[in-house]
Amino acid sequence: MSDVRNVIIIGSGPAGYTAALYTARASLKPLVFEGAVTAGGALMNTTEVENFPGFQDGIMGPELMDNMRAQAERFGAELVPDDIVSVDLTGEIKTVTDTSGTVHQAKAVIVTTGSQHRKLGLPNEDALSGRGVSWCATCDGFFFKDQDIAVIGGGDTAMEEATFLSRFAKSVTIVHRRDTLRASKAMQERAFADPKIKFVWDSEVAEIQGDPKLSGLKLRNLKTGELSDLAVTGLFIAIGHDPRTELFKGQLELDGEGYLKVEAPSTRTNLTGVFGAGDVVDHTYRQAITAAGTGCAAALDAERFLAALA
Ligand code: FAD
Repeated sequence: MSDVRNVIIIGSGPAGYTAALYTARASLKPLVFEGAVTAGGALMNTTEVENFPGFQDGIMGPELMDNMRAQAERFGAELVPDDIVSVDLTGEIKTVTDTSGTVHQAKAVIVTTGSQHRKLGLPNEDALSGRGVSWCATCDGFFFKDQDIAVIGGGDTAMEEATFLSRFAKSVTIVHRRDTLRASKAMQERAFADPKIKFVWDSEVAEIQGDPKLSGLKLRNLKTGELSDLAVTGLFIAIGHDPRTELFKGQLELDGEGYLKVEAPSTRTNLTGVFGAGDVVDHTYRQAITAAGTGCAAALDAERFLAALA
């Protein structure tokens, strides 16, 4: 069992590193568990980030995350590239256990474990990520000016992505497994009214094609089994996200979709001394800058909580 720390941060994306930077600068010596495989978070899997303020010419995702990491470390954050596999957050002293079984204790915990976009599970999907395949229209739409794009999904997010993309794209084809949409009536009507958007019903993606960039899709009609080709240079997969909250079930309050609930505008969870920030909380904005912003808020909330204990 280790000494009791002031604060432990679980997760290392923009939210975790920003919380680490702020708590380190407040002399709280944060201990940060970055994750064993995906230290740095979602932006480690992308190419250019053009919408993080302060980088006039854009910056590569991994470079942005390396900078955030180094900045937090410079002020004394202790960074551990390991996963937390169990937690007990209910008492005054919180405990978290890493993969070696070592138990770490702290008075405050900040949860920034992010969320995982659902994948189609097809070969080529990861290889073409950032090379035509994307999960975020706000992030990448601009790169697809005057191109033919496919959006996969039938919910609100898919309709929102499609209507947003139609501002830039030559055409947007929504491919959906059923013959009706799950999206709200208003979102559906907006998509149906958009002259650039067309629909392929009852169909799934059978193959993602292209090397080194996306060049097209093979679609399978689920009713007839018939295969067809769709020539596109952009593919936006909008079939949902899974917040990484498995670890906290039964302790932290989650919403119907499994996201961590906080007392907005604060980052306080239902447990005293536990704070949540970034995409593990947010199913609305899901941007690096909003994750960093709430990471800052969580650090300030934790700092004030610890000051009140003293
Ligand atoms: P994440 O970045 O997801 O980080 C969470 C971290 O927690 C991960 O490192 C994970 O390993 C770690 N973790 C999880 N569980 C544990 C555990 N049990 N123990 C230890 N560690 C754990 N946004 C933009 O603003 N601009 C863009 O251009 C842009 N492009 C994107 C491109 C792609 C391909 C993707 C997927 C997303 C993109 N986004 C972009 C969205 C942006 O990446 C996210 O909104 C942001 O990274 C969320 O930050 P976060 O800190 O909440 O979580």
